[in-house]
Amino acid sequence: MKKDQMPTGRRMVLRIAAALGATTTFGLFALERNGTAPPGPAGPAPRAHPGAAGARPGALAGPRLAPSAYRLQPMTAHAPPRHRRALPPVRQRPFLRVSGVGQSMVLSFDDGPDPRYTPAVLRTLRAYGVRAMFFVCGEMAAVNPDLLREMADDGHVVGNHSWSHPLMPRLRPSRIRDELGSTSDLIERTLGSPPLWYRAPYGAWNRHSFEIGAELGMEPLAWTVDTLDWKEPGAPVIVRRVLDGAGPGVVVLSHDAGGDRSQSVAALRAYLPQLLAAGYHLTVPRR
Ligand SMILES: [Zn+2]
Repeated sequence: MKKDQMPTGRRMVLRIAAALGATTTFGLFALERNGTAPPGPAGPAPRAHPGAAGARPGALAGPRLAPSAYRLQPMTAHAPPRHRRALPPVRQRPFLRVSGVGQSMVLSFDDGPDPRYTPAVLRTLRAYGVRAMFFVCGEMAAVNPDLLREMADDGHVVGNHSWSHPLMPRLRPSRIRDELGSTSDLIERTLGSPPLWYRAPYGAWNRHSFEIGAELGMEPLAWTVDTLDWKEPGAPVIVRRVLDGAGPGVVVLSHDAGGDRSQSVAALRAYLPQLLAAGYHLTVPRR
């Protein structure tokens, strides 16, 4: 079964990391509507890149994600190389939450897309005008490209969750590269631009995955609140976990695939309007 339950030891490591590490909070929302300058992520400065002038880490995403500039460039024999954003630094731990101005939160859905559940998740998010993050598996995205496009068309952020959902610390670096690289390639072929975020299956990160993720231009994002929806505890329990865990900067983990996710779908319909009524701004990062 696909699930992002992590071993207790790993969870403890992440808790300790959260307590110690400033880099576990990413200044995703530093550019709120008041135009406050972003602090930028902690750690080494991104490598300079001529095409990165407009890429501001920490910017709050607008109503729609603008198409990447290079997509508009003519493909001619003399066309300049495609502009890539600056590669992120190699992190030592994933981001666990986002630093927020106001009551910003992120909803994230892993393991899809799955035609049984993802369309309902998309419909609910659309009904409330809310954007979210989808960490997709390559093997699922490959057979559901229309759902991938639907995510992007609705302004959701599509992230990389590996091709086949392995426990990455058990893999040789070459296999990790295959898992992440093939998924990024598929997303780029389908959507026109590669993913900027990735999430390790089971929340099991290691040094190689941080290095390879950075080489592929992605930042690692974990989560703050685990709904444990894969255990199918009942929609009311999932709703309570989300509402109890809600807070500025919180990243919520749910699943739209990997098993029977009807409870996850039903829970979203219940907690989403309650979060909005409580004043939360549900949004996505833009890098
Ligand atoms: Zn997963």
